[in-house]
Amino acid sequence: MTKETGWNLDNSYARLPKTFFTAQNPHPVSSPKLITFNAPLAASLGLNTEKLQSEDGIAVFAGNRIPEGSEPLAQAYAGHQFGHFTKLGDGRAVLLGEQITPDGDRLDIELKGPGRTPYSRGGDGRAALGPMLREYIISEAMHALGIPTTRSLAVVSTGEPVIRETPLPGAILTRVAASHLRVGTFEYAANWGTAEELKVLADYAIKRHYPEVEADESRYLSLLKEVIKRQARLISKWQLVGFIHGVMNTDNMTISGETIDYGPCAFMDIYDPATVFSSIDVQGRYAYGNQPGIGGWNLARFAESLLPLLHENQEKAVEIAQEAISVYPELYQNNWISGMRAKLGIFNEEKEDGTLIADLLNIMKKHRADYTNTFRALTFERHEDMVLHGTPEFTEWHKVWQERLRRQNDSKASSQHLMQNSNPSVIPRNHRVEEALEAAVEEGDYSVMERLLEVLSSPYAHSPEQAEYCTLPAQSNIPYQTFCGT
Ligand code: AMP
Ligand code: MG
Ligand code: MG
Repeated sequence: MTKETGWNLDNSYARLPKTFFTAQNPHPVSSPKLITFNAPLAASLGLNTEKLQSEDGIAVFAGNRIPEGSEPLAQAYAGHQFGHFTKLGDGRAVLLGEQITPDGDRLDIELKGPGRTPYSRGGDGRAALGPMLREYIISEAMHALGIPTTRSLAVVSTGEPVIRETPLPGAILTRVAASHLRVGTFEYAANWGTAEELKVLADYAIKRHYPEVEADESRYLSLLKEVIKRQARLISKWQLVGFIHGVMNTDNMTISGETIDYGPCAFMDIYDPATVFSSIDVQGRYAYGNQPGIGGWNLARFAESLLPLLHENQEKAVEIAQEAISVYPELYQNNWISGMRAKLGIFNEEKEDGTLIADLLNIMKKHRADYTNTFRALTFERHEDMVLHGTPEFTEWHKVWQERLRRQNDSKASSQHLMQNSNPSVIPRNHRVEEALEAAVEEGDYSVMERLLEVLSSPYAHSPEQAEYCTLPAQSNIPYQTFCGT
């Protein structure tokens, strides 16, 4: 361990077959400056928060210094991008290694934007400040919302421009993840690795993320089933808070079940399953309402990659895979319904709950109600705040809901408590994120972002200071567009 800074890196990924990576150092930058630093996260990783913010510490986040114990590399992977299969890899990321935390966890430390790698294709391997701060804000907000996600440790500006449509200030994000293994890593192994290499990768994933299945008789089937479970849970959590990932390509779906790759993602204001923000998603493939189905599609690609490991007879293997995949829709639905029950203060199960929930969502859609604020108003019984207020369908729905609540044994207070913990007051609303990024990038004023980060760190606090972060943009129906790849 580097006593000074607390880096305690291991490199288990670097011990995998060479097929899966290329050794690659980050390319140094001219004048790195620490823009934002996640001290609580650093402390939980066993890092020295003061030393990390010194010149030497920052040099690591900039890619100008390799911390002791690091064997930097770029990972190889493939992916179905908008349905089309492509060979990819870390074109603008370098894995420094795995930090072994004081709790004994093993977490990937990765630089995003450290310059070209063998997988960069036409790209420059760099990243712009705005999008890196955006990933920092949204990933940390997701974490506070209780959604499994990669975390953000630091953003440094590089002092060098990146050339996009116009020159933009360059930056590097340090990302922390359970691992960066993706569905696309398995697709890569299945297409360009040997049978043995695929097996080694699967065993590695099991060891890292699902050690409880290691001794199972059919451990690769167990791996498939566990990933299906984690993704069903993860995507249900996205749906419950109105998160739209924006680019659910198979290279952006983790084996660990963490949300990864905050590119064109955004939170939905007005409830509409057809909501799409990403400028490149012209078909709406990754629209809010399509996410659960796309999750299933991606998991089927994962299952296909595992086929050689599921049975020596490939027909049998397909049967096994199909059976495993077939439970996904129900798993997803069960997770989602139980989350929705909690959002409505419901503890037990009744057959008609699905209808109750669907009816509310339909009314919200019809009246263009804000998703987050509708549940917030229901939680605090501030119905006059709702656009639904006074409509006959909402009045009727409300009556049915209240009757439903009275049929359970739990008190009204415990119901409300459940709702408060299930319905965030604050989400990273697009106009707030944009405002923070504009102040930071255009004016070098980071105070707007710092305040936003503070508010987003306790989304279920429901404190009066948060009120101003709950409002919609002046014109909430202007189409908001996000861009990826900057
Ligand atoms: P994403 O859409 O962020 O999942 O990225 C898809 C692929 O494009 C990945 O292989 C990235 O590494 C690569 N990529 C994105 N931006 C760049 C860039 N500026 N330079 C090189 N590769 C990039
Ligand atoms: Mg990606
Ligand atoms: Mg990306």
